[in-house]
This record gives sequence, C-alpha cells and structure tokens, in this order.
Amino acid sequence: MKTEFNLNELKAADRLPSPSGTALAIMQLVQQNDATVQQVSQLVKIDPALSGRILRFANSAAFGARRPIADIQVAVMMMGMQAVRNFALSLSLISDNSKGYCSGFNYELYWSRSLAISVSSAAITARERTVVPEEAFTIGLLGDIGSLALATAWSEIYGECLGKAEGKQLLALECDRFAIDHNALTLMLLADWGFPPVFLDALKLSFEMKVVGFSRIEQFARQLILARLIGDYCVADETRRTALLPSLIEEASLHAFDEQALLEFIDKIIELWCEWGKLIDVKTDVRQPSLKTATALEPALPGLDLLLVDDDPMMLARLSKQLVASGNRVAVCRDGESALKHVIEHGPQLVITDWRMKPMDGLALCKALRASAFGKNIYIIMLTSTEDEDALVEAFDAGIDDYVTKPISLRMLLARLRAGQRIIMLQRELEKESKDIQRYTAELAAANRRLKSMANTDVLTGLPNRRYALNRLEQESAAALRANQSLSVLMLDLDHFKSVNDTLGHDVGDQVLVHAANLMRKTARSSDIVCRLGGEEFLIIAPNTDSVTALSLAERIRRSIEENQPQGLMLRYPVTVSIGVARSMGSKPSWKELIKWADDALYLVKQGKRNGVKLASSS
Ligand code: GH3
Ligand code: MG
Ligand code: MG
Repeated sequence: MKTEFNLNELKAADRLPSPSGTALAIMQLVQQNDATVQQVSQLVKIDPALSGRILRFANSAAFGARRPIADIQVAVMMMGMQAVRNFALSLSLISDNSKGYCSGFNYELYWSRSLAISVSSAAITARERTVVPEEAFTIGLLGDIGSLALATAWSEIYGECLGKAEGKQLLALECDRFAIDHNALTLMLLADWGFPPVFLDALKLSFEMKVVGFSRIEQFARQLILARLIGDYCVADETRRTALLPSLIEEASLHAFDEQALLEFIDKIIELWCEWGKLIDVKTDVRQPSLKTATALEPALPGLDLLLVDDDPMMLARLSKQLVASGNRVAVCRDGESALKHVIEHGPQLVITDWRMKPMDGLALCKALRASAFGKNIYIIMLTSTEDEDALVEAFDAGIDDYVTKPISLRMLLARLRAGQRIIMLQRELEKESKDIQRYTAELAAANRRLKSMANTDVLTGLPNRRYALNRLEQESAAALRANQSLSVLMLDLDHFKSVNDTLGHDVGDQVLVHAANLMRKTARSSDIVCRLGGEEFLIIAPNTDSVTALSLAERIRRSIEENQPQGLMLRYPVTVSIGVARSMGSKPSWKELIKWADDALYLVKQGKRNGVKLASSS
C-alpha cells in the first residue's frame, strides 16, 4: 500500500534529494503569508548565480517576456514569488544531484530529459494558456523526481531494479521493493515541498495516461503527457527518435498540431533546451540509445590506475612507458595543480609523484590530497633524491605511503607498487563489505515496510484499513495543530448495502465494495487519504482542508458514485453513498471527537433520504 511508505523516516535519515542553502531560505520565507517581494528579492540577491538565472528566467522569450527586465525585484514581481521559490528549489536540486551512486541510473540523462520536459511544458502551456508557464516549467523539471529519490535512497537495490525492468513492470517492481513507486513518490515529495494540489492532481492524471475530460486540470495533464513525449524525443538517438515519432504525432494531434507544425515546434524546443542547459549546467548532448545495452560490470583488470606526476618530461615518458609495459593504466601530469584536478576527475588508485616541482611541489600535492574527501584514501608514492631522515619524516607527515629514491630502479618501483596494490585490494574489500552491510540494512528495512504495509491494508479494496486510518488521523491532527491548519474528515457509508448481499450474494457485494472504493480513490485529490473502516464504511482524511472544500469534495464523491453504476448487475437500489463531514481547526475538536461529529452528521443523512452529504453542525 502506497500510503504506508514513510517519507519522514527517509527524510530524517537524510537519504532524499532535498533543497539547500538559499533555496531553503526562500522556501521558508515564501511559506509565511506575509512575505514580501522585497524580502524574497533580498534573499535571491545573496546568491549571484541564482540572481543571474532568475533574470534570464524572467526574460525568457519562451514565456513571452514583454520588455527586458534588469532588476531582481522586478523579476520576482513579474514571475511571482511562488515561481521564484520553485525555480530556486529546482536549481538547488540539480546542483546537488548531478552525480550519484546508483549504477543503473543515468544522472546526466535524467536531468537532460527533465529539462527537455520542463521547457516543453512551459512552451505548450504558453501556447494553450492553461497554467502559468513558469509554474509549468518547474512541474516539468521535477515531474520525475521520485526516480531520482529512489536512486538516492536505495542506490544499490534500485540499480538492480532498473537493470531488470522497464515501464509498467518497473513500477510494480518498485512497489514490491520499496512499498512505493517513483510516480507516487514524486507526488509525495512535491506535496511535501508545498506544490499546490491542482498541479499534483494534474501530474497524477498524467501518470495514469488516461485523461478524458476538459477541466483545467485535465488539460494540463494532457499537456504534461505531450511534454514528456517531447522530452523523450529530445534525448533519444536517431533510431529511437524514428521509433518514438508515431505516438508523438498522435498525441500532438490532440493539441491541434499537424506533423509539420509539430516538427517545427520541437525544433524550437530543442533550441531552448540547449540554451537552458548551458544556463543551468545541464548537459543536452546525452543520448539514450534505442537498444538496451548490457551494463555488465567490468571484470577487475590486473594492474593499477596510476597517476604519474613529474615536471621532467623525459622522466615522465620513460617511466610511464615502463609502467604501462608492466600492465598498468597510466596518466601523466607535469605539476601539482593539474594532478589535483586529474584526481578529482578520474580518481586513480595510486599516485606516484616527484617531490621538487613548481609551483605546487609533491609535498603540497600530498597534503592537499589528504585534506580532501577524494584524496584521503589514495595510495601515494613519493620519488625523492634524498634519503635524509628529516626530509623523509616530513614527507610521511604530509601523508605519503611509501617512497622510492632516485635514480629509480624499475625493479624496486614495481616491488613497491605490488605492496601498494595489496593495500588497495584490502581497502576495496572493506568498502565492498560496508556497502553490503548498507544494502542488507536497506533490504531489511524494505522487507519490514512490506510487512507493515500488509498489516495496514484492507485486502479486498487495497485501501488502508481501520488501524491505519486511526493512526494516520491522529498524526494528521497533530500536524494540523502544529501548522494551525484545518483538517477535515468524511465518513462514508453505502446505502442499502445489505440488500445487495441479500439479493445477489456476498460476492457481488464484494464487487460493489471494490467498485465504490475505486471511485472514491479516483475522485479524491492526491493529498486525501481514502481508507476502508470496515464493512461498507469508509473514512477520508483531508489535510489542510476547510469545511467548504470538504463539503464539495464529499459532493463530488457522492455524485461520482451515483453517476457511475457498476455494469451488468441487476441491483434493487442503485449504488449510492451517504456522507457526513466534519472539520477541526487547531486543537478543536480532538481527532476522536472529529470522527464522532462526522458520524453524527452521517446518521442525519441516513435518517433522511440517504444519498446525500451533510456538514456536522458543530463544524
Ligand atoms: P444503510 O443504508 O442504513 O447504511 O443500510 P445498509 O444495509 O447499508 O446498512 P447495514 O449496516 O444494515 O448493513 C451493512 C451490511 O454490509 C451488513 C453486512 O452483511 C454487509 N457487509 C459488511 N462487510 C462486508 C463485506 O466485506 N462484504 C460484503 N459483501 N458485505 C459486507
Ligand atoms: Mg450502509
Ligand atoms: Mg453501515
């Protein structure tokens, strides 16, 4: 069951992508109702990179910028604080998550595709005028953030999932492994980051790929589907593009694009995508190949990845030739700075460095490496021309593992390398062991979650059960109190249900229950929690919802059940539902009392004509 997945647990363990720095400060500020454009602009100005990008964003032709904007405050005003906040959030997520440890997950491709979707969403909404393009831009950019989150939280297991499954299969596998799939996790994260429910509802519909009506939400959902197809097309290689084109043309025809217009539109999007890529450091030249290439692990090669650092070109040439000849992979640098850069970029296993070099000598290089996260475990051998004790002690203090004196005997150097190699192997085994432990812990946690989720799920309808409902209501009530928000509950009871059992049997009764449960789930918003309390009674928890909204939600559900009768059943009464609604604000009433209020209101409906909704008088 999806709702059982515990976001807070992962957040607390710091295992999810999360906003940082200025973005966090802006998010917190905008959350307050009295935040002003001036305050937001001040925060933005603290971060020069963000300022530049916001100006560019506000001036983007894609959003139909009117006249050039050069002032942050004007930009914030034009874009709206919400759009600025979401844009800052996106940028911080990109910069913190451009790399990661999940082997099957292509981080560059992920952001590249997300950016293409983002640009497409903005361009499509600007053309069809459904939602503000700036907002569509971020929804597009973060519309698949759940995948990144799974890759971050469970890199190893998720890597395996990606290797095993694609498309729908992947969603099922994710549910099985993590008690949640990436789409549901996306919705959960965006809700947690404060994205408005209308966007989340549209995104949810777009994931389901079946949009029928023409409400604003449904239109936006359709636009997101098209944007995703265009995104896929952008990052595909030529063969894959040809394969994707037919479904793209079909989907685009719903948006009044003929083939020619579509291709022109895509050209424009690709251009914008590349521009944006440069602006926010996202690669746009990564391509997804059409055939899945096997990602078999490279067999461990004999020999080492070496970096040889010496300012004497003759020496470099001679030594590297000899080291390559004895089976190693050798890179060379001529000074300390470029060596440092090479280590950051390529992570060699072992560094052999000369001592005397300019401007950064071997000793300084060694100290710099030891002081950094990427260099503290590298095996370092120093080439020295002296065996002077003081000098050697200084070198060991700087962090070398071993030394070889000049003139260099190849035999001696190779013997030292073998000693180094033994240490490196040991280190690697240790790392693998600790990774295994991490992985077992993660698997254990996932197994526990599955167990827990079973105990919290109603088998017939797949909805959360009574136990879960009451726990969750208690939690939501505490959260509402902290945030001083409204919390509403809907108590639902099917009408004349006993007669279904009595006339058509228990199995048909079950069928009707599943039918009604599905309609409730579909009609409720993604932030509502639909539960089955037992029998033909259901409870819907609606966080941050006032009584007017709760009543209209209840009425929507009542109508949906009345209007969508199960097909092919000869029922004595049509399936209908009676609903009691109650709302709490802050601490009043308690959650137990709240249920009772809703129950009392439900009772009144049952005493009347049934098939109706009623708000508890105390609410
Ligand atoms: P009202 O309109 O007043 O709510 O009438 P009702 O018939 O719906 O209410 P009542 O509480 O009298 O009957 C509920 C029935 O639901 C009784 C029981 O047989 C049936 N029921 C409870 N749980 C299940 C179930 O899991 N499956 C099926 N098929 N029936 C169930
Ligand atoms: Mg009933
Ligand atoms: Mg009942």
